[in-house]
Amino acid sequence: MTEPELPKEAMEDPFRPPEEPCMVRCLHCGQEYLSSQIVWRDGFWSCPVEGCGGAGYQFDIHPLDSSLWGGEEEDDEDFGEDYNEDEPFFGAPPSNN
Ligand SMILES: [Zn+2]
Repeated sequence: MTEPELPKEAMEDPFRPPEEPCMVRCLHCGQEYLSSQIVWRDGFWSCPVEGCGGAGYQFDIHPLDSSLWGGEEEDDEDFGEDYNEDEPFFGAPPSNN
């Protein structure tokens, strides 16, 4: 293992990736990758994707289980109250003619 030495500021950066790698997604490029792939570049923990300006774990780069992505499996209590189930949808005409 040849782990590159990281500067002290990298280790103390509040946006450094977690020690335990997890799947993350970048807000800028939408790519998903392991948090261990986030690179320390120009004084920021940056998205490893070429040409992407995303930077910072929990800033531009969020774990896939973050509520930020509106997780499909989570039932968020803030949603659903205004949802009107009686509202008819387009494209569903009665077929008993
Ligand atoms: Zn990115």
